[in-house]
Amino acid sequence: MESIYCVGCGVEIQTEDPKGLGYTPKSSLEKDNILCKRCFRLKHYNEIQDVSIHDDDFLKMVSSIRDKNGLVVHIIDIFDVNGTMIKSLPRIVGNNPILLVGNKMDLLPKSTNRRKLIQWLRSSAKELGLKVKDVFLISSVKGYGIEELTEQIEYYRENRDVYIVGTTNVGKSTFINRLIKQSVGESDVITTSYFPGTTLGFIEIPLDDQSALIDTPGIVNHEQIAHYISDHALKIITPNKEIKPRVYQLNAEQTLFIGGLARLDFIKGERQSFVCYFSNQLPIHRTKLENADELYKNHVGEMLSPPDEESLKTLPEFTNSAFRLHGEKTDIVFPGLGWITVTGANTTIVAHSPKEVAVTIRKSLI
Ligand code: GDP
Repeated sequence: MESIYCVGCGVEIQTEDPKGLGYTPKSSLEKDNILCKRCFRLKHYNEIQDVSIHDDDFLKMVSSIRDKNGLVVHIIDIFDVNGTMIKSLPRIVGNNPILLVGNKMDLLPKSTNRRKLIQWLRSSAKELGLKVKDVFLISSVKGYGIEELTEQIEYYRENRDVYIVGTTNVGKSTFINRLIKQSVGESDVITTSYFPGTTLGFIEIPLDDQSALIDTPGIVNHEQIAHYISDHALKIITPNKEIKPRVYQLNAEQTLFIGGLARLDFIKGERQSFVCYFSNQLPIHRTKLENADELYKNHVGEMLSPPDEESLKTLPEFTNSAFRLHGEKTDIVFPGLGWITVTGANTTIVAHSPKEVAVTIRKSLI
């Protein structure tokens, strides 16, 4: 087949992968000015749809931001900071300033300390070599923090274009759709971005006479647990409303299973509470440490689920890390799932998680 390019964003049209960049149903190939599905939806429904793209293609494509002069707005999911922060961003965007935006604030318990969360995001970014101008917390779904963020984007962009970047599933489309509604209401958005060779796959959304938002495809990050489990399992682990903490009083040598996707062993320390912050639908099981391996072997995929049977085929093997705690309230963070808060002094724990999705610790947010 001769290559065909989208007249909206310039990307090469393909008819095989509905979730991939440049997808158009075969039946649309007859038309004259062919739009990819993403541009089609924007043109006719005023709606951005997420498409995903793999590392190398993403790097090639988004690296063109390096040669532009713009503001980069990097959206991450506060439940999966490690999995959604794009470590190669400094290389990609060159000297352009970055605003870091933590989305899905509506899911955190009301008692969350926002200042600590911002601090943690800042230091996580720094550790990953990401220099950010400022950090914001929002909820794209509820609209929380959006007004402040749009004001600050206006301030920081100094008349330049704004590039919105993020991995898949962080809420990038929800965010952009909200901005579109806010600025143009129900009227049609004009897509204007075909400059051959430069903006392949970028969608430019003029929000007013001066400002344009540029939506970039979501990169697939292999540290996102979302890529290793089925859609059904993803639905269960993704919180859909404010998380209710679940508290377990544990003695040493007891274990908690988070579905069958993570495990925490309490090795040594006084009896104490373990406060679990996960999606309310994700089951937690307590057992004796000495029985834990056996229980997992016999019941993963059934009692210990998700993973469901389908996810078990793709889930990486578990790895574990030991942590010694010294009496400071600490969160053991299972990226993409949630966290467990522990306070005890002289406490040793071992956290197990799928190999690609490493457990980290931080000062407690609550
Ligand atoms: P994208 O892949 O980054 O474009 O992400 P989407 O905008 O498609 O959102 C991915 C999922 O996260 C969807 O199920 C959204 O409903 C959900 N989501 C997005 N933003 C928020 C938010 O602020 N709060 C909550 N609770 N869910 C959100």
